[in-house]
Amino acid sequence: MARVYNFSPGPSTLPETVLKRAAGELFEYGPHGQSVMEMSHRSKEYDEIHERCLSLLRETMNIPDNYKVLFIQGGASMQFSMIPQNLLSVSGKADYVVSGQFSLKAYQEAAKFGKVNLAATSKDVNFSRIPKLDKSNFMPDSDYVHICQNNTIFGTRFTELPDTGNVPLISDMSSCILSEPVDVSKFGLIYAGTQKNMAPAGLCVVIIRDDLLEREPQPVLDTMLKYKTYADSNSLYNTAPTYNIYMLALVLEWIRDEIGGLEKMQIRNQAKADKLYDCIDTVPLYKPTAQKEYRSMMNVTFVTGNPELDKKFCAEARAAGLYNLAGHRDVGGMRASIYNAMPPEGVDALVAFMKDFADKN
Ligand code: PMP
Repeated sequence: MARVYNFSPGPSTLPETVLKRAAGELFEYGPHGQSVMEMSHRSKEYDEIHERCLSLLRETMNIPDNYKVLFIQGGASMQFSMIPQNLLSVSGKADYVVSGQFSLKAYQEAAKFGKVNLAATSKDVNFSRIPKLDKSNFMPDSDYVHICQNNTIFGTRFTELPDTGNVPLISDMSSCILSEPVDVSKFGLIYAGTQKNMAPAGLCVVIIRDDLLEREPQPVLDTMLKYKTYADSNSLYNTAPTYNIYMLALVLEWIRDEIGGLEKMQIRNQAKADKLYDCIDTVPLYKPTAQKEYRSMMNVTFVTGNPELDKKFCAEARAAGLYNLAGHRDVGGMRASIYNAMPPEGVDALVAFMKDFADKN
């Protein structure tokens, strides 16, 4: 069977070059007589992969020297609880912007550990936009401000970062990391589950500013939940998810060698998103669900207005080799996740299908 175009929100499509290279190296990696999966995480052979992955990520995202990169398991969801348990310790207060389901979960988790302020939310409009924010939304003595930069379910994204003054900004970048350049120095902490733009599921990348590592975590916090455990051991305190880290290194090499870096990645991603939104805006059958100003470059959400027709759309799209287009149940309709690895040809095929479907319905 030919490969389909997979619009899944995550785990999602990986670059073909990466999959082919991984397939070629699956049985024997280099001259080492073993697969990466079989290597000891303490071996010299694996250590080269680990260090290469770290330095590729630093180079790709231009991460300043006063930040550590940590590889942690437990998904992005575990960060919802690690962040407050590690960082809610100066005033014991934090601000959360709730712009979708994942930031709501992060907020609810943090509320177990301190005084957490709902700084702003767009729940009243079913998260179809990012709430308006200014400094008055935030507590001046907050330990941090938390946002989710791209809302995977609702198809919205922050177009500008909130001004938090000296309070560290923490961003869940699970569904937008590596899609465009970011100024890491604007953040205290960035985290992302890898299953969208980075690697297979099972790994979460955390980029944390050194001074935040000095904060006193909650008393009796598990060793495995302390950022310092990972920072002090170069993420090798216990068995690291070695194959994921290897896959991330391959994806980062693909971004460098085939795409040409994050500026080029952004241009490619914006062109894909523009094509799709242009179709939604011009073909009368389709209605966007996210407000124009806040539309995501990664997750494109739309409906026909008729749930039966939406179902028919998804079924016929699947038959045409366009997979996983059903929207999340909180929004309904359709969602096309067009992460980095979705080739422009996949978006072209979807747009052609959408026009044809509209003509026939
Ligand atoms: N944050 C965002 C923005 C997400 O899209 C997701 C998963 N789709 C999560 C957090 C949760 O990630 P995980 O399943 O890795 O815990």
